[in-house]
Amino acid sequence: MNYQKILFEIEEELKDFPNNGKIATYIPELSKVNPDKFGGYLYCVNGTHSSFGDAEERFSIQSISKTFGLSLAMLLKGDELWKRIDVEPSGSSYNSLYQLERENGIPRNPFINSGALVITDILLSEYDHPKDEILKFVRKISGVESIDFDESVAESEKLHGHRNAALAHLMKAFGNIHNDINTILDIYFYQCSLAMSCGELAKTFMLYANEGKILETNEEIMPPIKIQRINALMQTCGFYDEAGEFAFRVGLPGKSGVGGGIVAIHPEKYSAVVWSPKLNEKGNSLLGMEALERLTKKTGFSIF
Ligand code: GLN
Repeated sequence: MNYQKILFEIEEELKDFPNNGKIATYIPELSKVNPDKFGGYLYCVNGTHSSFGDAEERFSIQSISKTFGLSLAMLLKGDELWKRIDVEPSGSSYNSLYQLERENGIPRNPFINSGALVITDILLSEYDHPKDEILKFVRKISGVESIDFDESVAESEKLHGHRNAALAHLMKAFGNIHNDINTILDIYFYQCSLAMSCGELAKTFMLYANEGKILETNEEIMPPIKIQRINALMQTCGFYDEAGEFAFRVGLPGKSGVGGGIVAIHPEKYSAVVWSPKLNEKGNSLLGMEALERLTKKTGFSIF
């Protein structure tokens, strides 16, 4: 399969695609990004890779980072984790409050904001320095030591993160948050602010395409059963109220972020990342979804 040729075709086809998406502005720092950025990267299990456009430029990975927090929590905890967070698609937006109220402070899944906040609470109970552990984990599985948080993005979200604060307070009232709320929010915002390129993300997500092993060293970081479960959650919950749409159009497990990045993985084949900052009304990259749909159409590979 000539992935490079396919990626160039997709880039060419989408040059004049009518993109009426909108860049996220509710985190003011994110609105400074050039909305026309567009890049993609595909990393294969045989070690080869292909890319196009702005694939090497770092951007704010936002909710894609929830996969790393979840991975750490699943390494630390057994099935008791699922008493505090469910594993069902939410069918509502990533920062919805009303569903959480109706369901007694138990988040639908670990990829909506409330679920990621409970995960952060768990990391805070288990680690002395959770932010350092998150960084250590990403640097280890990517093999890129220079990956870091973007403090200006984290601080910008902190000043405007009222919905996340509301979610945390609501869960605290239900007894599902154990630690100090401001500390949890600080860690969560820093995790979301991780700045990575499409290439770095594609390499990092090979862990999930390669049964929990780092591709180059074959070192097992997570047992395959835990990877299977994370992939199942990415499939059913990775795109909030558009998880069905992504499964229908693209047919791969994946995770999006409001920075405009989308990661998709084909277990035992490849990880693919696209970045385009303009979002559709569900908060997912409009061009990113289109590009990945074309990728699985052209290759004929989807998990279905
Ligand atoms: N940091 C963002 C928030 O909490 C993440 C949301 C996202 O990427 N979908 O709102």
